[in-house]
Amino acid sequence: MLKKKNLIFLGAPGAGKGTISNVLIAKYGVAHISTGDILRAEVAKGTPAGKEAAVIMKAGKLVPDELVCSMVKNRLAEPDCEKGFILDGFPRTIPQADRLAAVLAELGKEIDYAIYLKVEDEVLLQRLTARLNCRGCDAIYNKLFMPPKTEGICDKCGSELFQRADDSLETAKNRLSVFHQQTQPLIDYYEQRGLLYTCKSTGKDAIVAELAGILE
Ligand code: ADP
Ligand code: ZN
Repeated sequence: MLKKKNLIFLGAPGAGKGTISNVLIAKYGVAHISTGDILRAEVAKGTPAGKEAAVIMKAGKLVPDELVCSMVKNRLAEPDCEKGFILDGFPRTIPQADRLAAVLAELGKEIDYAIYLKVEDEVLLQRLTARLNCRGCDAIYNKLFMPPKTEGICDKCGSELFQRADDSLETAKNRLSVFHQQTQPLIDYYEQRGLLYTCKSTGKDAIVAELAGILE
């Protein structure tokens, strides 16, 4: 059904990687690999990796390449990735991208597209500081732009909504500057490899429709 099934989502924090990923995994049945979600689960479980990551994430910095790369390597080897996968929030540095290429070669897989969701910084900050996440499922809301039907409650599962610790204004600003310094170079990296697709649309439904055009 899908012609292009192994995808990377590139974009600043708040660009909509998680929101669009959620739609595509429901629509196409591909696996969702969000390093942010995996790290937050480790933090919640209080594992040694989670303890190391918690402080770094709270400051809006990147956790060490080694830590995320080994998590992604294990995840990509799981059987559900055969149907295709979306890497959401990984790679975020050039060394991570090089490491990903090596891991995929070992597994006999390749990336079909690195999809760039381009959004202005001003909009990103507004979105991040108004973002709400669900405690019970993957749903993401926004107090200003995508509010839940009942304040503070998830439409999908009825659980409580919360604000991520790193969505405060100060940390969000740090995350944007980390994006510009460390992740933006990946746009050229994937362009040079002929894999970059920059999304022209804005808004969830328009983006999903545009992507259907290149993926199906
Ligand atoms: P967002 O894209 O909204 O910033 P994520 O959930 O992708 O949020 O990431 C949250 C935090 O987790 C990041 O600020 C960073 O500290 C850490 N993180 C996630 N993915 C990576 C990665 N690939 N490399 C290093 N740190 C990461
Ligand atoms: Zn929910």
